[in-house]
Amino acid sequence: MLERELQRLFGFQTFKEGQKDIIEALMAGNDVFAMLPTGRGKSLCYQLPAFLARGLTVVVSPLLSLMEDQVAQLKKAGRKQVVALNSFSSKQERQKLLQQLNDYKIVYLSPEMLQAQDVLSALRSQLISYFIIDEAHCISYWGHDFRADYLRLREVKAALDHPPTLAITATADENVRKDIKIQLQLRQPVEILDRVNRENIALFVERYETNEQKVIRLKEIVREYELPGLVYAQTRAQAEWYCEQLQRDCPELSVGYYHGGMDSMDRMLVQEQFLSNQLDLICATNAFGMGVNKQDIRFIIHLQQPLDVASYLQEIGRAGRDGSPSFALVLLSPEDPFYASRLIQNRVEETMSLETLPQLLAMPFNSKSEQRMRLEQSYGEQGQTILFLLEKWDVIVDDKGTWKNQHETISKLKTYFEKQEQ
Ligand code: ADP
Ligand code: MG
Repeated sequence: MLERELQRLFGFQTFKEGQKDIIEALMAGNDVFAMLPTGRGKSLCYQLPAFLARGLTVVVSPLLSLMEDQVAQLKKAGRKQVVALNSFSSKQERQKLLQQLNDYKIVYLSPEMLQAQDVLSALRSQLISYFIIDEAHCISYWGHDFRADYLRLREVKAALDHPPTLAITATADENVRKDIKIQLQLRQPVEILDRVNRENIALFVERYETNEQKVIRLKEIVREYELPGLVYAQTRAQAEWYCEQLQRDCPELSVGYYHGGMDSMDRMLVQEQFLSNQLDLICATNAFGMGVNKQDIRFIIHLQQPLDVASYLQEIGRAGRDGSPSFALVLLSPEDPFYASRLIQNRVEETMSLETLPQLLAMPFNSKSEQRMRLEQSYGEQGQTILFLLEKWDVIVDDKGTWKNQHETISKLKTYFEKQEQ
């Protein structure tokens, strides 16, 4: 199992999104073109296969500092069969190294180095497992970092007899991608692109007057359309609340919830159940998704206005990985912008402002639990404390969460939180 090797070699428990797809495609002997955002862990996508292979993996990297960094990191982690060869290496080092290539699993090279005849012929005498072009956009005129030396990589690849080749980068638009594939003569490459332009995902937005109408619509959809599906809520309380609603009113479905506040055993369990189709639906916060590779998710529903485009794209990109028709739907209601701005604000300022509380609690709620959800949405975990205090002080007068003595209560709350901070 690849996960076991990941743990053994790198000490990580799970793959980050995209890594496993790339590794599997490469290890199956394919040429691969991959695009993953910065920081996702592109290096591991070739390091892992390299350590599992019989021969030597050649990695082309444009920056000396990047190369040295990676070699140092691997060595520190006890993986010593790696080496970098670049213009900093002395002649002796270089000769010695070229004679001892057998001892290594990975050799990092600058593209210039690959032009040297002694280097190339030493490589040709080796069993080359993989040919890796990191920062592959450097090969394209259209890319933002064009390097003429990269153009010669095509001959190198041919000289090495076209080993399975991985071209990997964080940024490449349509033109650059085309260029990379042509320049490197990738053969029917498997493409793993972490960006969403997937024709099989249809996008919809629907607007409703109240949250209650959203919930009704949500129930309709999950009954009507093919499962499994993923429902994104903004807060932990909300994820649980929607899950409860669905469990109660759609007993024919199995629904679970997932958020960062659960302990890791519970989270793993829910994830496993979803992967093995024991759950039809998960109501989750954005904590759910990384490393979850489920091919057949048929829809992604967002229950509020998403907070930013990048995460929205990431989240809806989890639908329809199998290429079958899928959809992404946002259910909006008028108060969304208010909550969204509160949430964004909460990320910035640590201390909440109680001034907006009357405005929030004056909104119509259908139940106390909805009010609880709204409070947490706007005030994070302090929202739960607020509601607890409102109840304790007996200022909530009915099941819809209407309250009395607002002015007085706000100042009591302020005093309470000020004391907490001291
Ligand atoms: P990129 O080249 O995509 O910008 P790197 O290969 O430099 O990213 O990796 C970024 C960080 O992510 C590194 O510190 C690496 O150790 C870490 N990383 C890679 N894969 C995993 C994983 N599966 N789990 C946790 N951390 C990982
Ligand atoms: Mg990198």
